[in-house]
Amino acid sequence: VVRRIEELGFRPHLLSEGGRTVIGFMGDETKSMQSTFAAMSGVESVVMSRKPYRVACREFKAEGTIIRVGDIEIGANRVILMAGPCAVESRSMLMEVAHAVKEAGAKILRGGAYKPRTSPYSFKGLREKGLEILAEAREKTGLAIITEAMSIQDVKLVSQYADILQIGARNMQNFALLEEAGNIKKPVLLKRGMMATLEELLMAAEYILSNGNQQVMLCERGIRTFERYTRNTLDIVSVPLLKDLTHLPVIVDPSHGTGVRGLVKPASRAAVAAGADGLLIEVHPNPDEALSDGPQSLCPEDFRNLVDEVKKIARAVGREI
Ligand code: PEP
Ligand code: MN
Repeated sequence: VVRRIEELGFRPHLLSEGGRTVIGFMGDETKSMQSTFAAMSGVESVVMSRKPYRVACREFKAEGTIIRVGDIEIGANRVILMAGPCAVESRSMLMEVAHAVKEAGAKILRGGAYKPRTSPYSFKGLREKGLEILAEAREKTGLAIITEAMSIQDVKLVSQYADILQIGARNMQNFALLEEAGNIKKPVLLKRGMMATLEELLMAAEYILSNGNQQVMLCERGIRTFERYTRNTLDIVSVPLLKDLTHLPVIVDPSHGTGVRGLVKPASRAAVAAGADGLLIEVHPNPDEALSDGPQSLCPEDFRNLVDEVKKIARAVGREI
């Protein structure tokens, strides 16, 4: 089938799961092409998709994608908690947060080593030193690591340390970076741009998928609206919408999604109720002294309390944490 697709001048994309292979390609949607492939041995069915994000769409793959990071499954029944500081500020603060979030039930430790900042005079992260500290925290706690790569040049190094590579909201349509993320063998968490439609988010994911990396999860982190009481407007219905439009796991970041500490817990509850596969939450040992995103960061105790509350919602919607 792959050879035939290539003979026709198209590029096939393969997705294998559970003994089944889905082969996608962008061709002209003629009936004759459909019957050519349907008649080939080993072909179960030929599905025509009208969605421009051919590999990301549900029609391409009906079952939800499960991304495995060690023994963690993202996209399965368990809602996965990713937590940690906005930025890795020092070794001692990261170790403190790492132990605290692990104890509270987080499976993945977040922390930026390369930080996109609005002002060039703000703290921009510890860079490679930050990556080393993250790796040490993984060793000490067993937590997996998620951290951001801001540019193509960083992808190699960051993906050597990270278990999940984060692409930030400001980079959602950095197509060169997306293509580079398609070349690596690690899962990618792609954040929705603050002015991006869901279709644009899915097309951005398509860049990574079509370049050969099938391990993509999407992250709703709020969009910019006229509302000023919050930093961003968390688009909660994007969760059920995306779960319908795509087979990719959907994560919600209620920290950037609201920008307000007191709203992180209710937004987390709403996200889990709406069907999120995971939460990405900023936790800092002393939020008021954080070098970035202090106003939206939780202290460890607030995070423990959030986990207790969110567990009740998970149970109510038939999921675990
Ligand atoms: C972050 O996760 O700290 C971050 C910078 O997020 P975003 O790209 O969503 O603003
Ligand atoms: Mn942040």
